Amino acid sequence: AAKRKLNGPQLYDPIMDSSSAQTLSLLTELRRAIERNELRLYLQPKVPLQGKPGLAVEALVRWQHPQRGLVPPMDFIPFAEQTGFVRQLTLWMFEESARLLADPRTQGMGLRISVNLSTRDLLDPELCERLQAMLVRHGVLPQGFCLEITESAIMDDPQRAEAMLNRLSQHGFKLSIDDFGTGYSSLGYLKRLPVDELKIDKSFVMGMEHDHDDEMIVRSTIDLAHNLGLTVVAEGVENAAILERLRALSCDEAQGYHVSRPVPVDAFLSWHAQRAWA
Ligand code: C2E
Ligand code: CA
Ligand code: CA
Ligand code: CA
Repeated sequence: AAKRKLNGPQLYDPIMDSSSAQTLSLLTELRRAIERNELRLYLQPKVPLQGKPGLAVEALVRWQHPQRGLVPPMDFIPFAEQTGFVRQLTLWMFEESARLLADPRTQGMGLRISVNLSTRDLLDPELCERLQAMLVRHGVLPQGFCLEITESAIMDDPQRAEAMLNRLSQHGFKLSIDDFGTGYSSLGYLKRLPVDELKIDKSFVMGMEHDHDDEMIVRSTIDLAHNLGLTVVAEGVENAAILERLRALSCDEAQGYHVSRPVPVDAFLSWHAQRAWA
């Protein structure tokens, strides 16, 4: 499990409470969160650096909890993964994203939406059919979506992941490897997977200004991606200097606080309207 902050109140500790009554109550609360409409779709733009048209956004979940306020994903995603609830969460996020792609306010933007998949989703035999059904329901095409899968989720069970990625790709979904560089995948494996995009983990991007090794990793990843015919995205772009450096290194897209923080749909639409004016 990921390291957790020691300061400040924690929502729950999924490790310590894994068999307690608190686990059950969190699971109940999460299920209710969907029924009571407490989950929120936040969007963070991924802007093109090389003048290509169109705009991509990553869909990131938040939980608007009646007592605790806006809960960040790291406080409940690990728990949702452990309990399998994350599969429902993925479907909720995908459906909201499909709704957005069908929304008249996003027409003409050339919008593509990235949705995160978890390890659990890769094991769900019905995932493809479920996503497909939502596309039909909202009248949108799979090409409008990119599914982000972390390198470590793939390496959890590479053969199974490969089979699932092949199916998703055959259905027309674009695929991205998230947190690239942190999951020890073999390059030979990468070559076989039907992926379209690599996302360089933010730890390298945030470090590249001051750490020569981080800069080398970013440069090598951009070259590797391009040599394999893949698009490459840098996440965690926090200032203009890094953005310009990435542009000079031929990185395709940038995502980070410097461009925009993750924001609710309406705020994203205003951001986009202002950007179009500029
Ligand atoms: P991720 O998929 O790697 O998402 C990127 C995270 O980096 C987001 O955190 C985003 O807010 C943050 N970020 C973006 N730009 C910057 C920056 O310039 N600097 C810094 N320091 N951080 C930046 P967030 O939204 O808190 O999400 C954290 C993680 O929770 C995500 O990491 C993803 O693993 C998971 N997650 C979020 N939403 C979902 C979801 O709908 N489904 C699943 N399965 N996981 C999700
Ligand atoms: Ca992601
Ligand atoms: Ca990431
Ligand atoms: Ca991450």
